[in-house]
Amino acid sequence: MLDFTPLLVAAGLLLVFVLAVVGLVLLVRRQAMHQGHRSKMRPPRDEPRWASDGAPQRVGRPCAACSEVFVTDGEATACDVCEALCHANCLARHCSATHAPAQAPFRGGDA
Ligand SMILES: [Zn+2]
Ligand SMILES: [Zn+2]
Repeated sequence: MLDFTPLLVAAGLLLVFVLAVVGLVLLVRRQAMHQGHRSKMRPPRDEPRWASDGAPQRVGRPCAACSEVFVTDGEATACDVCEALCHANCLARHCSATHAPAQAPFRGGDA
């Protein structure tokens, strides 16, 4: 006569274990979906990182004075008047060409 009791106990334990794992997975997945849905309902549009943090992308933009593209972020300097990006060496040229003082009788004279 074969005794199946240990086998039945093992099968029962296995069944309980599998059911517990499946239930846990379903619960976690449902919570994750709920949280994802909730975060989608509130897009962080007013987050500070969306605003400019003072370091706009400058690489690849042309210099306002010589039209040469900036290769590094550090070589670009923003004009104090119009915030145009220029090379540090081109800023004076940009200012005299674009923001020439209105009261000046002439510009580029032989003074
Ligand atoms: Zn330049
Ligand atoms: Zn300017």
